[in-house]
Amino acid sequence: MTKTYGFDTLQIHAGARPDPATGARQTPIYQTTAYVFRDADHAAALFNLQEVGYIYSRLTNPTVAVLQERIATLEGGVGAVCCSSGHAAQIMALFPLMGPGRNVVASTRAYGGTLTQFSQTIKRFGWEAKFVDFDDLAAVEAAIDDNTRAVFCETIANPGGYVTDLDAIAAIADRAGLPLIVDNTSATPWLCRPIEHGATLVVHSATKYLTGNGTVTGGAVIDSGNFDWSASDKFPSLSQPEPAYHGLKFHETFGALAFTFHGIAVGLRDLGMTLNPQAAHYTLMGIETLSLRMERHVANARKLAEWLEADPRVEAVTYAGLPSSPYHDRAQKICPKGAGALFTVALKGGYESCVKLVDSLEIFSHVANLGDARSLIIHPASTTHRQLTEKQQVAAGAAPNVVRLSIGIEDADDLIADLDQALATATA
Ligand SMILES: *Cc1c(COP(=O)(O)O)cnc(C)c1O
Repeated sequence: MTKTYGFDTLQIHAGARPDPATGARQTPIYQTTAYVFRDADHAAALFNLQEVGYIYSRLTNPTVAVLQERIATLEGGVGAVCCSSGHAAQIMALFPLMGPGRNVVASTRAYGGTLTQFSQTIKRFGWEAKFVDFDDLAAVEAAIDDNTRAVFCETIANPGGYVTDLDAIAAIADRAGLPLIVDNTSATPWLCRPIEHGATLVVHSATKYLTGNGTVTGGAVIDSGNFDWSASDKFPSLSQPEPAYHGLKFHETFGALAFTFHGIAVGLRDLGMTLNPQAAHYTLMGIETLSLRMERHVANARKLAEWLEADPRVEAVTYAGLPSSPYHDRAQKICPKGAGALFTVALKGGYESCVKLVDSLEIFSHVANLGDARSLIIHPASTTHRQLTEKQQVAAGAAPNVVRLSIGIEDADDLIADLDQALATATA
């Protein structure tokens, strides 16, 4: 498939071809661990990375390979590596770049799980995250030091209706000779393609909109193919001889595909954060309708945000799709088709009203997830953010009177009626 096809065509066809063995039109689920070698020479060539093929499903699998090509094409990258979760994708993105004593400069406005992974767990590898307000471009630049190996942010940051100025951040990373990694989970490639704004790598939690119905845990790392890993001595895993492959140099050997090959041949081989073929199948099914779903997600989110903002029981709505948002203009530039379908709502009734609201809703489900066809709600102060002090909750956009909504693709009028009746109970 060439990239001259439109998004709606590519989301169904990219990476897929009729099964060579049976002609099956839909991509089969290759539920196999291993693949028979043609002969001993074939096996040796595969193990030496002299020939591309299938060895063992921890590294590569034909169903997963279709998904990798599909996602890479939709994001405008040269290759992708699928992983067992979004969090696995983040480790897989950082792994070839980092090492003990190295750091990543990351946005303070990131998914809560990412803040924990970066502030606590990666320290066990000797890696460090330096958190900065990415609206303060001078501070981002100042945080970069000789040990920095990547810059990390999200396109649309959950939960507070925040949009990152990707072009400005990419320019800073570029001046410093560093790759920019963008988590595009909340936007999806239908709303924004971060590579077109200067991202080097894009990461996804496929658990969310890509699959789109809350059935899978999965992730992906997409490489733009645009970064020169040999321009400095900062990325030896990609530019220097790899002892585990007889001194092969990934960048010299694979060019623009160096990061993707390294992700499979070293990352998946040794970290084992592999996506299983069944999960890849579900995500492929989801992606076929990504643009249709996102269009409805965004239209519903806009309608509900407008209705809520005008409601006297509501104190504030943070959604970059609303003209009242400080990020409205930036959203028009970064994701002109819509500012996603996640936002927070602050209720005048405080903590008690929020708890009653989540308990009174009938269509909305009270869950710790987002990006489902179903509408979802969570009260961060009594769940995901309950270990924080009230001051920390406010700073994270999760004050005691705030709920986060992930707007689904149901009838907007039904969703409004559901919120209306639950707000009546919550504020009675
Ligand atoms: C859910 C999520 C993740 C983590 O993905 P998992 O698939 O749950 O591991 C990372 N970033 C964002 C923005 C997310 O929404």
